[in-house]
Amino acid sequence: MPGTLYVVATPIGNLEDITQRALRVLQEVDLIAAEDTRRTRVLLERYRIDKPLTSLYDHNEAQKAPTLIRSLEEGGSLALVSEAGTPLISDPGYRLVQLAIARGLTVVPIPGASAAVAALTVSGLPPDRFVFEGFPPKKPGKRRRRLEELQDEPRTLVFYESPRRVGELLQEMQALWGNRRIAVARELTKKFEEILRGTITEVQAQLAERPPLGEVTLVVEGAASPARPRAGYDQVDPPDPHRCT
Ligand code: SAM
Repeated sequence: MPGTLYVVATPIGNLEDITQRALRVLQEVDLIAAEDTRRTRVLLERYRIDKPLTSLYDHNEAQKAPTLIRSLEEGGSLALVSEAGTPLISDPGYRLVQLAIARGLTVVPIPGASAAVAALTVSGLPPDRFVFEGFPPKKPGKRRRRLEELQDEPRTLVFYESPRRVGELLQEMQALWGNRRIAVARELTKKFEEILRGTITEVQAQLAERPPLGEVTLVVEGAASPARPRAGYDQVDPPDPHRCT
């Protein structure tokens, strides 16, 4: 019987944010493929899990994935974890999962924390429809084109960004998209957790006094359109939270 590939979410800061199922799977698998073995070791030590680790990161994934697939085919089970949060979400693992699916192997998600969803839920911006954009391109030309493409996007937008580039990104958004409402969520679940909310100019003023440090997720209100006024902003009633049922 081939082994199962488990895609296991780990905490984005606070080590208590891990599910019981994730701990059981990490305890039971034959091998853990980790983006950052040192960081994963800290988590495993905290929960007294002693398992062999192998590293799988952006630059070795293409070369290493076939070896991991072979071990799955030979019956060994494997847990994939990233440095923090949910693997594959702006993190390695896509090639491995793709290959496992192509080879007919069983791939099981073990869901848990992700900074994008955590930030969205506390942003105060409409969560009913949102777009995850990950990291915007670093090169100014490419980044500008991406922002232009997104200019008329009515859904709430979620970005990951380095704290060093947040100021510049906000300036570009302000110039292209106008003074939208945003939330800058930094260091979620950690000691210096902070969520700045307001219009871009309001948040820029707060950041001017105290530039952001640590890990930052940015949530931006979508473009207003006559067909879909901004939920919770132009509408009197907030969006129905049970809409999906
Ligand atoms: N896979 C991860 C997830 O599910 O959230 C994301 C990995 S991505 C390489 C790292 C980026 O996620 C950071 O640069 C930051 O934008 C965001 N991030 C991760 N942890 C965070 C935290 N505790 N607070 C705010 N943003 C965070």
